[in-house]
Amino acid sequence: MTETLAGGCFCGTVRFEVEGPETFACFCHCRSCQRAAGAPVVAWATYLRNTFRLTHGEMQSIRSSPGVTRGFCARCGSSITYEHAKRGDDIDITVSCLDDPSAPALKAHIWTEDKQPWLTIGDDLPVYEKNSG
Ligand SMILES: [Zn+2]
Ligand SMILES: [Zn+2]
Repeated sequence: MTETLAGGCFCGTVRFEVEGPETFACFCHCRSCQRAAGAPVVAWATYLRNTFRLTHGEMQSIRSSPGVTRGFCARCGSSITYEHAKRGDDIDITVSCLDDPSAPALKAHIWTEDKQPWLTIGDDLPVYEKNSG
């Protein structure tokens, strides 16, 4: 059964909806996420791209790696979306921008080769040095 999830950026300019539940969710420790979010780790949840829609405002985007587009609010800078050309049906959304960040079930840690040494993983989720696939 699907449910509509709503979310938005810090300043409220960008608002979106997407159909849950997520197909996957993980913590990403990669350097690109660290810099894009200004945070040591970013929790992402994956949804079907064709269920994602903006309900207010527009996102700016940046190509952070070949085939990768990151969407963010141009006013406040919140990282909101991640799309990869190799996963054309998917859109990843920052869990923290959902109105209910507790909704997705986080299932793994990825790109831990970039994890900062002062960050200790304290759960029993699978850990991948690179991506999970
Ligand atoms: Zn904003
Ligand atoms: Zn990442």
